[in-house]
Amino acid sequence: MTHTRNTAASDSFGGETPSHRHVSAASAHDRQSKPSRSEPSRIRRVGERRERTLPVDGQTGRAYRARAEPMTVRPLRDGRYVVETDGGTYVVDVERETCTCPDSAIRGAHCKHRRRVELEIDARLLPGPNERERVCAVCGGPAFVPIDTDDERPVLCDRHDRAPGDLVRDRETGSLLVVVEALGRRADATRTDEGRLVAAYETNAAYGGQEPVFAAVYVASLSDEELRRVAAVRSGDDDGDVADSTAGARRYLFPASRLRPLADTSGRSSRVPRNTNGVGEQANAVDGGTGGVDDGSELLSLVTVDVGEA
Ligand SMILES: [Zn+2]
Ligand SMILES: [Zn+2]
Repeated sequence: MTHTRNTAASDSFGGETPSHRHVSAASAHDRQSKPSRSEPSRIRRVGERRERTLPVDGQTGRAYRARAEPMTVRPLRDGRYVVETDGGTYVVDVERETCTCPDSAIRGAHCKHRRRVELEIDARLLPGPNERERVCAVCGGPAFVPIDTDDERPVLCDRHDRAPGDLVRDRETGSLLVVVEALGRRADATRTDEGRLVAAYETNAAYGGQEPVFAAVYVASLSDEELRRVAAVRSGDDDGDVADSTAGARRYLFPASRLRPLADTSGRSSRVPRNTNGVGEQANAVDGGTGGVDDGSELLSLVTVDVGEA
């Protein structure tokens, strides 16, 4: 379980390098004895800012200090960031490449504060300068969205977001679907062709009315030609879009969390890698019993065969 791995560090990088994590945790512990630093949870509430360290990754000098020194970074409304350290509090502007610390302001260095902010943005621990933090409509965790995103529009974190071309399984029926469009509207404010709200269907009762709606088509309803085109779009061999490729199939609307992402083991769909981690927890909670990793091999074998024949 990933969330129990991190007991020593308060909120270190979500990277997959236990040895680095260990170095990070140890160095944090040596410097700090605040009890809050040993909290087991790495689940962060929206707006919460914790002091943390990052894996040092064999770095030296400023690059090392940018990772190893405990800092708390907070985004300001104007796209800059406040960095609190034991040595002082500074303001970083990543776009103008400035920091108010002496190392940057006087020596013109790419200081450890700027580096830290850049690292945390890259790791999706902080919103970028043109992003802001909203609440994921599924998990309530932080979701970073473009700054001009409409407040009325429900948003999703990277883990719960779906994109056209994603292969998903309907939690209610187990059917395989392909996501064809993100509608960006709430399930309790989006009507189907029947004129009913998506949230009003009994099969959607277990999912939040606040969740954004996705349109998807059943894989079983696709013709061989449509399957071939979907496979080509997913693999990047075709620049077209999935909605066009499946225009002949009937579309259905779903609240976001009803569609469970598949762990894609084909290696052909790197364009949507962020969803490959999402299989575990929710599947267990909602599906109650299928167990095991659903790799979508059913469809993938189909599309692979079809592509091979094409
Ligand atoms: Zn600085
Ligand atoms: Zn989420």
